[in-house]
Amino acid sequence: MTSLPEGWQNTRQNMIMLQHCILKRVLQQFYSGNQETTKSLLSGFPAALQHGHRAAGHRSKSTGLPGESERTLIAIKPDGVQRRLVGQIIQRFEQRGFKLVGMKMMKVSEDLLSQHYCELRTKPFYPSLLHYMTSGPVVVMVWEGHKVVQTSRKMVGHTNPAEAQAGTVRGDFSIHVSRNVVHASDSLEGAQREIQLWFQGKELLNWDCCDQTSTCEV
Ligand code: UDP
Ligand code: MG
Repeated sequence: MTSLPEGWQNTRQNMIMLQHCILKRVLQQFYSGNQETTKSLLSGFPAALQHGHRAAGHRSKSTGLPGESERTLIAIKPDGVQRRLVGQIIQRFEQRGFKLVGMKMMKVSEDLLSQHYCELRTKPFYPSLLHYMTSGPVVVMVWEGHKVVQTSRKMVGHTNPAEAQAGTVRGDFSIHVSRNVVHASDSLEGAQREIQLWFQGKELLNWDCCDQTSTCEV
């Protein structure tokens, strides 16, 4: 191996030690669940590194390649919970072959909703959307798998249930756009933003599904 001049070697060693310290601190903060500090520590790191643990484009454990396995946010809205559709909706995602990595039931604050629906703030239906979404509990989940963002949008169906195909969640369980039962992220970037908004890192589980090799080539 080519040896470096003494001054260069010291610089290289210092860089390695600095990287080691930052990584150690990031991991400590992440596992202690301190998202804010983790985010600020990671702000100088390349995006691809930051997205490794819980972004929408999840890094596959087997290959190390990003984008093979994605994550998306699915929420069963208050009408879906009131109508006891939670089990049937979860069953569809399990049956399709996706993996549940996070789930909670909650009453949503207006603050969280206004961030979630920030692009719709100027729409005429926005006030009634907020009212509907805060009218009762929601069940919010993160599902993981191959092309889960695109596939789950297809499974959920058209925003307006009157236009939704039979066989989709909205097409089978709803009739009006103001009560369309379920939310699904519409893009990888959207999914990443929404997952970070609704879940803390420690609320999501990395686990191996025993049928993984039967549902997808890994
Ligand atoms: N919505 C509504 N009236 C409309 C359009 C949308 O009440 O005319 C509500 C509906 O609950 C919808 C949500 O606003 O699911 C978000 O709208 P978006 O266009 O993002 O549709 P989605 O991504 O949910 O299919
Ligand atoms: Mg949307």
